[in-house]
Amino acid sequence: MSLPAIAVKNLVKQFGETTVLHGIDLDIPQGKVSCLIGPSGSGKSTLLRCMAFLEEATRGTITIDGEVLGFSESAQGVRERLPAATNRAIRSRIGMVFQQFNLWPHMTALGNVSEALKTVHKMSRKDAEDLAMAQLVKVGLESRAGHYPAQLSGGQQQRVAIARALALKPKIMLFDEPTSSLDPELTGEVLNVMRDLAAEGMTMVVVSHEIGFAATVGQQISFLDQGKLLFTGAPSDVFRKPRNPRLEQFLDTYL
Ligand code: ADP
Ligand code: MG
Repeated sequence: MSLPAIAVKNLVKQFGETTVLHGIDLDIPQGKVSCLIGPSGSGKSTLLRCMAFLEEATRGTITIDGEVLGFSESAQGVRERLPAATNRAIRSRIGMVFQQFNLWPHMTALGNVSEALKTVHKMSRKDAEDLAMAQLVKVGLESRAGHYPAQLSGGQQQRVAIARALALKPKIMLFDEPTSSLDPELTGEVLNVMRDLAAEGMTMVVVSHEIGFAATVGQQISFLDQGKLLFTGAPSDVFRKPRNPRLEQFLDTYL
């Protein structure tokens, strides 16, 4: 067994008095697609945001390629914040795509993809735009490079958002309901881009209600319910009966 891409250990997340993740243990394997399913409010986004260090875990650890992200925790439960530069370096291995595309409306597709390359990575305009264009080609949008978000369909905007994340050369891509704000006829083009990425061996964690995608592309499926991981296994195990009653109930609403 190789080192997991992400190892989540006893992750607890509280918002004030409310505990939304109750001690999650989850390994994300390298080079595979892991899907996270579960009812609304079960903590899927919070778990993903903790993995990307957009939220700080209250307890427990998240390890990326063997390196602890955010806080280390001793066996006695003493937590220590790790240096910001270390966290930034580890976090930069992770790309994230959200339900809302969050594109800058005043920038073209090419501008949206190249902006961070210029401002954060200090690339020259030409190098940044060459790399950005290569990513737009990858998501099938080279002919839309000069379009503004308002001139693009939702599916195209989400593909620009994926290209933007890929331009930063992440080792792991997290997707939080990437097709949930799209009209049904536009989900296919986004899922196809994700399928291509999976075929290239990208490590991916995908939160999605697209059970068909999870069943066909997912190699590991985890079911989260009320902040607890009730099941992690291969798709064939998820869909085999008898199932956990909560999973059964969940699948009934989405299958
Ligand atoms: P999911 O993505 O599965 O729908 P979330 O992770 O968004 O679930 O939310 C899990 C729970 O945590 C919900 O009850 C939600 O209201 C709560 N929650 C999420 N973010 C916050 C926050 N920033 N402050 C307080 N509560 C939050
Ligand atoms: Mg969510």
